[in-house]
Amino acid sequence: MHPARVSDRLLVITGDYLDEHMTVVATGDGLVVIDTLATLPATRAALPAIAAFSREPVRFVINTHCDADHTAGNQLFTGATIVGHRHAPRHDQERVFDDPQSVADIQQFIQQLETNPDHARPAARHRCYLDAYRTLLDGFVGFRHTPPVVLAAGGTGLALGDIRIELEDAAPAHTDADLLVRVPALDLLVAGDTVLGAGFVPVAHAIHGGSVTGMRAVLERLAASLPPATRIIPGHGAPGGLELIARQQDYLDALLDAVGQARAQGRTLEEIRDSLQLEPFRDHFMYDLVHAIHVEMAWRETAPGD
Ligand SMILES: [Zn+2]
Repeated sequence: MHPARVSDRLLVITGDYLDEHMTVVATGDGLVVIDTLATLPATRAALPAIAAFSREPVRFVINTHCDADHTAGNQLFTGATIVGHRHAPRHDQERVFDDPQSVADIQQFIQQLETNPDHARPAARHRCYLDAYRTLLDGFVGFRHTPPVVLAAGGTGLALGDIRIELEDAAPAHTDADLLVRVPALDLLVAGDTVLGAGFVPVAHAIHGGSVTGMRAVLERLAASLPPATRIIPGHGAPGGLELIARQQDYLDALLDAVGQARAQGRTLEEIRDSLQLEPFRDHFMYDLVHAIHVEMAWRETAPGD
């Protein structure tokens, strides 16, 4: 866990799961926390850094999306109002990502990794994935599902102190419940997993309603509209500027071009699903876990007639 005080107004705490971030904005009238760290213990360990940063109470926690690795610490912010996307699961809904069902999913995924190692994958990378997902699993000890109670649509704003925080609807991109959080006064975009850092391929979760074409459209919109000096806190990886968006666009453009070409050549999804590779991105983090699924998503999302 590494806290970085960027200014009197901005604290960015990076976790040890996959370089995820908890961003803290001091408004002068309370703190706004955007995403938690990936586990309950990691978020708990970060609380003293928040207290050292500011004496203001945490008034809002904004979840950029519902995945456990961004919401596992929600329950620690008692007294704060938790805000999420309008599609975020509510207390009375069965569809939740970050509950004991997720534990079963993560266990199953770890088992897959353990029993069926991809021999094409470098051993260090394989270990890194295993460590990361085991860390995630450990974080569920004492976990209590604490979903957002305020469900925001695009265009919602929070006005606190002299800071205005704007919520933008990005779904469907990484999931079907993605929010982008913009703080114009700080030239800040907290992107959640709609933008990942350098060295990561973008990740669209098919099982959570994500979309590769949706993500490409959002990134195009951001590239065209964000001020050049914008600081971007990605969902994972080192913060940066607009170049983070350009790198994610490179992969999605290459993916959609290649799938379009394959279709034009009369090939089938079955033929290309596991063989269509994008060489420049093969060594990127997550590529070996998500690329084949992205090929299938790109194929289905761009099918004629859709
Ligand atoms: Zn994530």
